[in-house]
Amino acid sequence: MESCIVEKNLMIEQLIEKELKPFVKKIDADAFYADGFLKKLGEAGLFSSINKQDKEMLLDEMHVVKETAKVCMTTAFCLWCHLAALTYIRKTDNLEIKNKLLSSFENGEILGATGLSNPMKYYAGLEKLNLSAEPVEGGYIINGVLASVSNLGENHWFGLVAGVSENKRIMGVVPCNVSGLKLKEKVDYLGINGSSTYACAFNDVFIPKEWILSENADLFVEKIRPAFIAYQIPLGLGVTQASIELIEKVGQKQNGCNLYLKTQSDDLQEEARKLEEKVLTIFNRDESLNWKDVADIRLKVAYLTLKAVQTNMLHNGSAGYLKDSAPSRKLREAYFFANLTPTVKHLEKVLTV
Ligand SMILES: Cc1cc2nc3c(=O)[nH]c(=O)nc-3n(C[C@H](O)[C@H](O)[C@H](O)COP(=O)(O)OP(=O)(O)OC[C@H]3O[C@@H](n4cnc5c(N)ncnc54)[C@H](O)[C@@H]3O)c2cc1C
Repeated sequence: MESCIVEKNLMIEQLIEKELKPFVKKIDADAFYADGFLKKLGEAGLFSSINKQDKEMLLDEMHVVKETAKVCMTTAFCLWCHLAALTYIRKTDNLEIKNKLLSSFENGEILGATGLSNPMKYYAGLEKLNLSAEPVEGGYIINGVLASVSNLGENHWFGLVAGVSENKRIMGVVPCNVSGLKLKEKVDYLGINGSSTYACAFNDVFIPKEWILSENADLFVEKIRPAFIAYQIPLGLGVTQASIELIEKVGQKQNGCNLYLKTQSDDLQEEARKLEEKVLTIFNRDESLNWKDVADIRLKVAYLTLKAVQTNMLHNGSAGYLKDSAPSRKLREAYFFANLTPTVKHLEKVLTV
């Protein structure tokens, strides 16, 4: 058991070293999309659910997200997209789509993505649903626009929720090449431009019944929500850990002047440790994960990440203020993490009302 974990961690380390690190600059500066790395993780068996319980699988995959985020949060976010989509396939009762996609998603042959920000905001009372579904013979016709869906590419599939009537919403998956879907690439963001993000316009897109994950999206979203949020936690913890390391590297700069700064790496490390412990506490309970417990940790991690990247900027001085420096990149990526659905404001709302 122990040696198996060591072996797996070594494999993750080697894949990051060989398949991700060489592209890290290009991902940030040239919007390079590291799909090759994501596929290699799958090929290595790191998304396999065989002989694994739900929580064990989730924790193992969260570990891969964290290790990736230490080096490149953009790619770790793409990995989150894939794992969110994989959760939809794992949890569906529709065996046709499960048989079609599960093993290809798990072995990295096909990558997945998720257009669920708008539905998550809809369920929290923040927005109207952007997609509509009209029932027709054999399936539904989808219309509407999703402003941003990441981790898209040829042969990729992504999840969506569309409103059929006042009382009914469906959840399905579609391939990027489905007829009637127009994709427009978006690369003018402050960061994470290597996330292969597109605006998705649905113009009478037919989705057959085989692609419907659930005829009752309201219930299905309840099933996938804990994992959807949990997989985001290591995005922030990875960036925080990397920031701690960068702060420690410059500890002796200017005769140790950084030691006078109010926040030190030890403070961040202690906060991160407590949050990691909280993750284990909720996972070790006998009952299934309560999404509000997960959301509470996700919110605290968002605040810690913002604090860590800001502290990193203060410790690194003008070297950190260079456009392509690691601290400034982490700062830009962290602001996306804070504004990734569920955003900080969204989480504050659902944890209050
Ligand atoms: C780089 C990037 C990648 C993202 N990837 C995904 C993804 O993979 N899947 C996913 O579901 N969501 C994705 N999102 C959305 C993200 O998760 C958040 O929902 C969003 O960043 C901010 O939400 P907000 O609540 O602050 O709403 P706001 O950004 O304030 O948006 C409010 C409303 O305006 C709409 N809107 C925002 N921008 C535009 C635009 N350019 N054109 C038209 N309407 C717009 C939104 O849909 C929403 O209805 C991405 C966003 C960004 C910036």
